[in-house]
Amino acid sequence: MKIIGLLGGMSWESTALYYRDINEGVKNTLGGLHSAKIAMYSVDFAPVEEMQHAGDLEGSANIMIDGAKRIEAAGADFLLICTNTMHEFVPQMEPHINLPILHIADTTAEVIKEGGLKTVGLLGTNFTMERPFYKGRLSDAHGIDVIVPDDEDRKIIHDVIYHELCLGKISEQSKIEYLRIIEKLADDGAEAVILGCTEITMLVEPKDTYVPLLDTTAIHAQKAVERATDRRANKERKSDNV
Ligand code: GLU
Repeated sequence: MKIIGLLGGMSWESTALYYRDINEGVKNTLGGLHSAKIAMYSVDFAPVEEMQHAGDLEGSANIMIDGAKRIEAAGADFLLICTNTMHEFVPQMEPHINLPILHIADTTAEVIKEGGLKTVGLLGTNFTMERPFYKGRLSDAHGIDVIVPDDEDRKIIHDVIYHELCLGKISEQSKIEYLRIIEKLADDGAEAVILGCTEITMLVEPKDTYVPLLDTTAIHAQKAVERATDRRANKERKSDNV
């Protein structure tokens, strides 16, 4: 079994989900007392969040490079960045490590294409919804059309992530807003909606809406399990309904 590298802490709330999902996935795949081999480095999220919002791209990249090097030194065979947003710095990280990065947008695109979908909605931080590193990868590398909420709704999505979900706060009112926005994206032509922030799965679940949801945390974790065990998981995935 390969050693899975996890660069986490962004936020730790979702890194805990990765740890659980990956171990459950290995147990389901290999059975018995099997569990995942993981080398994890978890950052302090407060300075990361400050740099993100201050637009300090170099500082953010340096934190990601430093974390990836530590995980490589710990012996990981490949790396997962446990946040959609910080995939922005993959191009800066890659020259500093010999570790392959399992890109969260690529794993999500695989599921979208397996489902025969063409147009999807995207929820995430403003960085993820607005900048090209994520949407561009889905469209240019995978031919997927991506639609995002309007300005006002993007602000709601973004603020709930940083002021609630990353602090472990689950609000019924925010859930209602998220579901409204998800269903609006479906009205606008999305065949499914990507939960493109690793904490959103704490707030909305497939059973909450008729719109198919793509849970990037669960998908990323499952693809890591497949790569680590060299086995394709059974089709059934409890956390997405595409
Ligand atoms: N975990 C979130 C994501 O998937 C947001 C936190 C962060 O800014 O990294 O994008």
